[in-house]
Amino acid sequence: RNLYGDERLNSKGVNLPDPAELQALVSGMQQASLQPWRAGPIVSGKAIAAQAMSVTNPANRSEVIGTVSVASEATVDAAISAAVAAQPDWNSTAAAERAAILLKAADLYEKHLAQLVAYCVREGGRSIPDSISEVREAVDFLRYYAARAEEGFGKGLSLPGPTGESNELKLHGRGVFVCISPWNFPLAIFTGQIAAALAAGNSVIAKPAEQTPLVAARAVELLLEAGVPPNVLHLLTGDGASVGARAVADPRIAGVAFTGSTETAQAINRSLAGRSGPIPVLIAETGGQNALIADSSALPEQIVLDVVQSGFNSAGQRCSALRALFVQDDIADRVLQLLAGYMDELKIGDPADISTDVGPVIDEPSCSVLGAHARNITKSARWQHAEEMSVELQRRGSFFAPLAVEISSLAELTREVFGPIVHVIRYRAEDLDKVIDAINNTGYGLTLGIHTRVDASARYIASRVRSGNVYVNRNMIGAVVGVQPFGGRGLSGTGPKAGGPYYLHRFATEQTITINT
Ligand code: GLU
Repeated sequence: RNLYGDERLNSKGVNLPDPAELQALVSGMQQASLQPWRAGPIVSGKAIAAQAMSVTNPANRSEVIGTVSVASEATVDAAISAAVAAQPDWNSTAAAERAAILLKAADLYEKHLAQLVAYCVREGGRSIPDSISEVREAVDFLRYYAARAEEGFGKGLSLPGPTGESNELKLHGRGVFVCISPWNFPLAIFTGQIAAALAAGNSVIAKPAEQTPLVAARAVELLLEAGVPPNVLHLLTGDGASVGARAVADPRIAGVAFTGSTETAQAINRSLAGRSGPIPVLIAETGGQNALIADSSALPEQIVLDVVQSGFNSAGQRCSALRALFVQDDIADRVLQLLAGYMDELKIGDPADISTDVGPVIDEPSCSVLGAHARNITKSARWQHAEEMSVELQRRGSFFAPLAVEISSLAELTREVFGPIVHVIRYRAEDLDKVIDAINNTGYGLTLGIHTRVDASARYIASRVRSGNVYVNRNMIGAVVGVQPFGGRGLSGTGPKAGGPYYLHRFATEQTITINT
């Protein structure tokens, strides 16, 4: 039996050290990149024509990789009308049939792995290994939620009938879900939200991040090819302020699944609260001010390896990424020395190159925000180490060199810094409780890392820090579907765990049927 508790296998990866497998992947990516890509609204299976704008590669801003057209207000309304009309039939479709469609989609994603990797690399600036993981995670979401739908949404739950009546509790889709996904996992999170909403019997309005519409459009094509009825899944490309906001404000929608910034989740929440009509649900997964606490019993070499992976993988553009390393003063100098050495070994460059460790950040505005933060925070820094980066690379794309900087307190970080910057704070053993308070006082609660060889310390810290995902003596990114259900609390989200056994319930409503026999 596998991680899903059934006979299905986990999604396949690529054995990159095998030259034949790598070559097959690279030529598949090249093949997929021969034609320019296109994205635009897809309503009831039809591409809606509109004026197109260029989409460029974040690693090379002069390279146009495709075009996107944006959904008009009329298109948003038409998509919601179609989704409302289609939902009852989709909800009545047997859960096993809905699941079979998602399983077919998973197979299609695997079949087109090289193509999807090419999209993630060229549009999202993701490294090749990250992009492979992303396709695998998308496949895992499809299979995992298919399995959970079959298990929970098929037959209702029989309840006792002490009065002679028969009682049954049944899960149903809520109606139309608007799924708003981020650019940092442009395929995995986009697919995960849609798969969950569909599996639970909802129809879906999918609104991908405006930076990554191309891979989203390809994913919707594959979902439709797998058999998702065209009236049940609609794609709306465009920005959040107009397209997303209009969809969210429509009184006909039953819920919103959102992954992105805390500020946007709060704006969505206000919009939902202020509108007329039924009270919708909001499933929000937002940011983090993620800390790692390393005490002096931990191995400096292992700490540094995990800090580098947690802070700089995906150019630090993961909600789960490490932002604040608390290191006990006895080992701090050694850890910083090793960290600087390791950072110098990281290769910054084009993510299409297999040897690249750190690719670009998503766009110029993101680069400027990081630059401004770095200038500010390094002014009074006790220690800092930035990787060298060529001017040529900076001219070519939105690259930001990994930076580690020692600060005196977590309070210096007033908001999430979404990029490859790790802040280091020394602490004394007797101040551990203050460290725990400081982490809790950020109000975020997504991921926490602990490095210690004292079991009791690990358990103590894990029980005190309010964090959705805790990782002990390892890195703190890359939660695996069905194995490490992922999601946070407080400013980090409304709590549901993507890739966990209870996630689909948040997309569902319950009905009790009592029959007087
Ligand atoms: N689930 C991802 C991870 O564990 C992070 C998701 C996100 O960045 O939103 O790395």
